[in-house]
Amino acid sequence: MPTRRHILKKSLLLTAAGLFTGLRAPTLLAQESEEKHSKLAPPPDLFDSQALDLEFWVKPRTLDLIRPASGERVKLLYWKDGEMFDSAYQQVCHLLRDVNGKKSAAIDPKLLETLWATQAFIARFGMTRPLEILSGYRTPESNQRLREEGIPAARKSLHLEGRAADIRIAQLHEEVLGELIKSFRQGGVGFYYRPSARGGWIHTDTGLQRMWKG
Ligand SMILES: [Zn+2]
Repeated sequence: MPTRRHILKKSLLLTAAGLFTGLRAPTLLAQESEEKHSKLAPPPDLFDSQALDLEFWVKPRTLDLIRPASGERVKLLYWKDGEMFDSAYQQVCHLLRDVNGKKSAAIDPKLLETLWATQAFIARFGMTRPLEILSGYRTPESNQRLREEGIPAARKSLHLEGRAADIRIAQLHEEVLGELIKSFRQGGVGFYYRPSARGGWIHTDTGLQRMWKG
């Protein structure tokens, strides 16, 4: 990833300035247990992934994903020392398949990196819920059906290329999740707020860096 040097540099600067310390983590944990039945309020200054050091990016990567539509869950080490494990990668691609069209596709490893980094980042603050995959790869037919049903889906969606996922994490406000993903500067981020009990979701992709609300 070309920005690692930049991340490292910025991390050192922030640490020196005392802007990113673990001091706020216990507060967040306390909030989490207090607000068991509500979502966390966004602490925007806390979720800045550019403050991460190189050590974060080189450690082994485990993904813990659930697919509410099929009830599946995978928790596996998929990357270590710069190498992706093929069988783990295939399992993740399967989980991110089009569950309606019953078809899977190769998922962009960069997307997996974003999903992993998101999960690993918030785990540092005691949040270890699995990441919910609401949508991953989509066949053109499934994408078209969503459009006809009035569900937000772009005609040339990156879901069709295995380069996008719609996600949520229980008890983590969508805004926090979206801002965190945006801070990785890896692609597009769509914020979909919904007033339902389960809340909205965040679209993340490996396309151009941009953000929108839908
Ligand atoms: Zn999406």
